Amino acid sequence: MRLTSRRGMVRAATLVTAVALPLALAAPAATAGTAAPAATGVSDVLAEALAHMVKGKNVKKHLDALQSIADANGGNRAVGTPGYEASLAYVRDKVTRAGYKVSTTDVEFPIKWEEFSPSVLQQVSPEAKTYANPTDFVTVTPSGGGDVTAQIQVVDPVIPPAPVPNTSTAGCESSDFAGFVPGRIALIQRGTCAFIDKALNAKAAGAAGVIFFNEGQPGRTDPFEFDIREWRFGFPVVIASTAVGLDLADSPGTVVHLKVDAKTTVGHAKNLIAESRNGAAGEVVMAGAHLDGVPEGPGINDNGSGSAAILETALKMAHLPTKNRLRFAWWAGEELGLLGSDQYVAGLSQAERDRIRLYLNFDMVASPNDVTFLYDGDDSDAEGAGPGPDGSAGIEKVFERYYGKRGLPFKGTDFDGRSDYGAFIANGIPSGGIFTGAEGIKTAEEAARFGGTAGAPYDPCYHDVCDNITNINAAALDRNAKAIGYATARYAYDLTGVPDRNAAALARSAAAPARIPARGAAS
Ligand SMILES: [Zn+2]
Repeated sequence: MRLTSRRGMVRAATLVTAVALPLALAAPAATAGTAAPAATGVSDVLAEALAHMVKGKNVKKHLDALQSIADANGGNRAVGTPGYEASLAYVRDKVTRAGYKVSTTDVEFPIKWEEFSPSVLQQVSPEAKTYANPTDFVTVTPSGGGDVTAQIQVVDPVIPPAPVPNTSTAGCESSDFAGFVPGRIALIQRGTCAFIDKALNAKAAGAAGVIFFNEGQPGRTDPFEFDIREWRFGFPVVIASTAVGLDLADSPGTVVHLKVDAKTTVGHAKNLIAESRNGAAGEVVMAGAHLDGVPEGPGINDNGSGSAAILETALKMAHLPTKNRLRFAWWAGEELGLLGSDQYVAGLSQAERDRIRLYLNFDMVASPNDVTFLYDGDDSDAEGAGPGPDGSAGIEKVFERYYGKRGLPFKGTDFDGRSDYGAFIANGIPSGGIFTGAEGIKTAEEAARFGGTAGAPYDPCYHDVCDNITNINAAALDRNAKAIGYATARYAYDLTGVPDRNAAALARSAAAPARIPARGAAS
């Protein structure tokens, strides 16, 4: 261990000497907003140097460590388990010794949800009546507990229901809640968007509870049980039949009594953040990977591979005088719904978000039957989600350049929301990264271009007990870890093609009228 770290230092110092001169002579200008992402000569040299320094065999050593951690902790590294804590301790130790500024941020995750007695829904006025559980309505899992008597406010319904299902956009836009009186119970029709979006909009509008009702077409009139996959509402949520929904919507000012007797037990975990001490603090180049696995197995490809690859990149970049600040993140609770990255981004101020110039995501980079998928920043595939925020197309091109120069194949993959870039994209932060495939099936065309087995999954051990150290594709690990080093270094020295949201924010605040609150004034 000691020998490895000394060698790392020496190699880094050698590189610094080699590049110090050209850097000083030709510090690359960070021109913003251009579509041309081609690296300048200098940053490309630096990027290639990192590609050379990051080696699959060293990444593999981190994977061996993660496998040992899983072996010693019941076979997995899932969030909330000692295997996760030990994984975090392993990475923390490495980045601390390498000289990074290391911190953690809190992540909450749901452990269990219990309902102690059947929920209650009654109309108090204008007519006193009690609706029947479960024929008229049921509790939504995992509803918050609460006992509320309040006026109903109907949110943008289609009444009478349209003949075609998924017509109502009730509650899908926050504008549906314009004029919503905080403290009321939102009555929201089923329809085009996810229930969770409706409920989150209701929460933002200050609702004290939510009553969904089925949309009203044949086959879509009864209440039904479902999991909304969000526990942080803190208010009761039920779903009623169309008949009850229409009954409640019938007269303005209807008052109901809604009671859910339930509790969610919440667990706590940590994201690990390592930030370099070099480079401009306002120009943060961020790379992240989720460190947690599923309970079913050791999670070595998903996502020991991404975690280990950014760790090795961090170690090799630790002593470089980068122009921009480096920040690496190992996320908790990705497998439970992107919790670590979502809560991290939500916890940042707008000014802190503006300092993150781009986010690179690595989730599964060594699949056994791999394809080199690059997140489709420019939406050239025109599939699923649209393009990423401005600058995402350039990130895709930087990766394409790495593979293209080596004559290696690659193809786009949609930003489908299945990994930790989601919160970054949603906040306008350009994103990109590599993904070698999960449970999806390799096509004949892909097998012809990338090798491997057509008709078989990219990772046959995805979320399974066999996602162990033998599930790692060594060639893919080496190739893609180098690409990670390449792209990270490129942006560490050169933000060409990445719009300067920082400057945009400064311009916004300069344009805004000055507001100097009087001392002691209430805000
Ligand atoms: Zn994953």
